[in-house]
Amino acid sequence: MRVLLVEDEPRLARSLARALREEGYAVDAALAGDDGLHQAESCAYDAIILDVMLPKLDGWQVLERLRRVKTTPVLMLTARDATRDRVRGLDSGADDYLVKPFDLSELLARLRALIRRSAGQGSSEMEVRGLRLDTRARSVSRGGNAVALTAREYSILEYLVLHRGEVVSRTALYEHLFDESDDTLSNLVDVHIFSIRKKLGSDLIVTRRGQGYCVEV
Ligand code: CA
Repeated sequence: MRVLLVEDEPRLARSLARALREEGYAVDAALAGDDGLHQAESCAYDAIILDVMLPKLDGWQVLERLRRVKTTPVLMLTARDATRDRVRGLDSGADDYLVKPFDLSELLARLRALIRRSAGQGSSEMEVRGLRLDTRARSVSRGGNAVALTAREYSILEYLVLHRGEVVSRTALYEHLFDESDDTLSNLVDVHIFSIRKKLGSDLIVTRRGQGYCVEV
């Protein structure tokens, strides 16, 4: 999953980006509202973490302009615990809120929930074709046997399972799983898919020639 972090306080932005990467997210960061809006419009993010108090454009302005063109889930960070702010945010199309200072584990939980909900998935555990995937523990089992995947393999599988029944193009996988700082080789996704198949069975991920990959339901 790829997230955009729009936060102007450099220390908080750095530590959040690091924590998110440790959780397996691809992360792009913007330090001002106008840059954040531009990135949000030009990339396919799975979620956006948006601070309210920002230079150039504030979080409300970013959200308002973004909502004219995109429905990407947005988690707002506000410094003020004011009802007025929350109402304004919900009216402007924010999907969730967090009041600063916040607990990192709460931010991560809300982010997971936002991404799940936007894919039409209610629970943190998913099951398909004997595969069980726990998005909280980032663990996987098939036929009752736990299988160890690398962080990359897990991310690819999670994305495919979250979008099960759909054909996911290789381009979409790159867009959603790697950020600007990743040095990607064109065949990398295929290498990971090959490895996932070796660990979990070749029948789980179907290749649709010329279109992409699919976990069929
Ligand atoms: Ca700020």
